[in-house]
Amino acid sequence: MSALVLGHMNPDTDSIMAAIAVADLYKKRGLDVKAAAQGKPTPESEFVLNKFGLTAPEVVEDVAGQDIYLVDFSDLAQAPKGIDTANVLGIVDHHKLGDITTSSPLLCWIWPAGCSCTVVKNMYDFYGVEIPASIAGGMLCAILSDTVIFKSVTCTEDDKKAVEDLAKIAGVADVKALGLEMFTVKSALEGATMDELVHRDYKDFNMNGNKIGIGQLEVVDLSMLDKYREGLQAEIEKIKADGRHSVFLLLTDIMKEGSDMLIASDDPAIVEKAFGKAPEGTHVWLDGVMSRKKQVVPNFEKAFK
Ligand code: MG
Ligand code: MG
Ligand code: MG
Repeated sequence: MSALVLGHMNPDTDSIMAAIAVADLYKKRGLDVKAAAQGKPTPESEFVLNKFGLTAPEVVEDVAGQDIYLVDFSDLAQAPKGIDTANVLGIVDHHKLGDITTSSPLLCWIWPAGCSCTVVKNMYDFYGVEIPASIAGGMLCAILSDTVIFKSVTCTEDDKKAVEDLAKIAGVADVKALGLEMFTVKSALEGATMDELVHRDYKDFNMNGNKIGIGQLEVVDLSMLDKYREGLQAEIEKIKADGRHSVFLLLTDIMKEGSDMLIASDDPAIVEKAFGKAPEGTHVWLDGVMSRKKQVVPNFEKAFK
């Protein structure tokens, strides 16, 4: 059976594209691998796949006993069922090192870049393998998505350089226009259920023994979310009630460059402890906060210590 290359739960564009690209690269290096994903693509990823004529990876829910390569995560909380008996052969990631361990040496490419696909671009270069134009286009979009078109504090020079190179390979003339087109698709709310919206980009974390869920919705204008606030609050309360200490939902305005965070928690005071700002009722505006990974998760981890 082919080894699987797969990203985190609730796959985002980076998880999908890094899986496709790493599978392409490893196949060309003679390995028997195939891209997989822990779920269907989001509307944003769907847009990217269609734009560049790529096929969504096969959905896999259980990896028991299988050989797997991880992309865009190394946390058990974001792994599929059966991870405890799977054989993890490698990791490509740009997050803090998680809690997945292995019994054999593994191939790790973990860089503090803004996107896993930036690391994958450098892997192609390292191995001297050409990137197909379609995959280059998809990787470029993943980097624009993860770095919020270079605005996120997670964005590095490596990301900008990768985008420049990938744009040439993919034949994309106006990178920022493509980024805005993608974020407009990402912002689309019509027809989605509250459950879908909260889970569009949602992750569970274990913080000092507390199960914490943090979701993020990135929109081009926060007022688009006004009529959904009540429903979203009720939804995160529901998710919290299912064995979690807290669930937070970041409503990120990519133009104003900040996030309004909805709060459902056993201990709402943890928010002030983490950010030095008292919530107004069940939400708090966090100016300049756009990155869950760099500006939210570390603050909560510290507060929960
Ligand atoms: Mg991701
Ligand atoms: Mg990523
Ligand atoms: Mg993201």
